[in-house]
Amino acid sequence: MPLIKSWVASANTPDTPFPLNNLPCGVFSTAGSEPRCGVAIGDRILDMAALETAGLIDIGAEDLFDVPFWNEVMELGPDAWAALRRRLSELLAEDSPDRTALEPILVPMAEAELHMPCLVSEYTDFYASRHHATNVGTMFRGAENALPPNWLHIPIGYNGRASTVVASGTDIIRPNGQLKPADADRPVFGPCRRLDIELELGAVVGCGSEMGTPLTIAEADAMIFGYVLLNDWSARDIQAWEYQPLGPFQAKAFATSISPWIVTSAALEPFRTATPDRAVPILPYLAEPGPMLYDIDLSVTMKPAGATAATTIARTNYREMYWSAAQQLAHHASSGCAMNVGDLLGSGTISGPDRDSRGSLLELTWGGRDPLRLDTGETRTFIEDGDTLTLHGHADGDGYRIGFGTCSGTVRPAVSFPKVTDDR
Ligand code: CA
Repeated sequence: MPLIKSWVASANTPDTPFPLNNLPCGVFSTAGSEPRCGVAIGDRILDMAALETAGLIDIGAEDLFDVPFWNEVMELGPDAWAALRRRLSELLAEDSPDRTALEPILVPMAEAELHMPCLVSEYTDFYASRHHATNVGTMFRGAENALPPNWLHIPIGYNGRASTVVASGTDIIRPNGQLKPADADRPVFGPCRRLDIELELGAVVGCGSEMGTPLTIAEADAMIFGYVLLNDWSARDIQAWEYQPLGPFQAKAFATSISPWIVTSAALEPFRTATPDRAVPILPYLAEPGPMLYDIDLSVTMKPAGATAATTIARTNYREMYWSAAQQLAHHASSGCAMNVGDLLGSGTISGPDRDSRGSLLELTWGGRDPLRLDTGETRTFIEDGDTLTLHGHADGDGYRIGFGTCSGTVRPAVSFPKVTDDR
């Protein structure tokens, strides 16, 4: 599919992340106005609340867009999502008869503040890139035990915290926690010393499912409203001490950042690609009826405080995943677990086969053994206070690009914790 031309000139340039082919959903505000729904087009945001007030959109319900979340639109289901996309495509097309009515309700993106695009009802994080799982398993348990025996059969996940999922641009406070130095008998409590990122894609679930009702893979795929970039900030030293036997807890609970635009599954449709060949046969309930990954280029940049430019530290692609979001969602519901509108599923860290295609500092520096050199001349093993980490993502089409915007966060010092007397 080629670029679909719009009367919004900035949406027709080959490097804009937001051509008419994209139409991602976000929440924005401008000086003195309340956050409300908007759709990105070129370097503008279409004010969806104003569009609704003007009587130019009707997808089967009223008062959908004058709120700071897209959950009510998601709740209407896939037919309404398709109607929304059709109508926006008409309104913004090169030959649209409604241009004059829309021009005053396009807001310059440079003047807008972006917020969380939806209410995250629950957050689940997976562990579904084989390269990542192999790298981490090798460091934590040795090469012979790298992949746990269940890994090739089951999309491994854990229930995370929705309460600390934040929008790109939110500062990240270095967590405190229990750390157990290898040469110490007992743990200490204090600021994390091995703070890391995890480059992930988040799937936003747009339809709920009933408790006790499993989903087929096709049903699960159709329930996904769209995707965001997701940074699952991780405290490696806290994780290494706490993770056995129930998995990560405080090491992942302090913050998860997402990009501000939900790129819809419909916009990503031309970029579908299959999961890799199965290393061992999988159970039928996880078998995909078609390609359910997407070809999305991803990268990470790091910028120390005061630096003028950021250094790209990793480049990879979402097609490296072993398990797709549809498989993860179907597996999540397979026990009878109810899924909610606004459920967020983290893909798991996306690592490729090469040294510079690893989606975490843990892997890029091999546990801190091989420091990274930044363009500023500084080196890093893990994140230092003042560093800004940014995820980037886009799918490249024929003369256009489906961009995600960025997912960024700057790390601030840990809060000082009241000293607790230790009488032991
Ligand atoms: Ca993760």
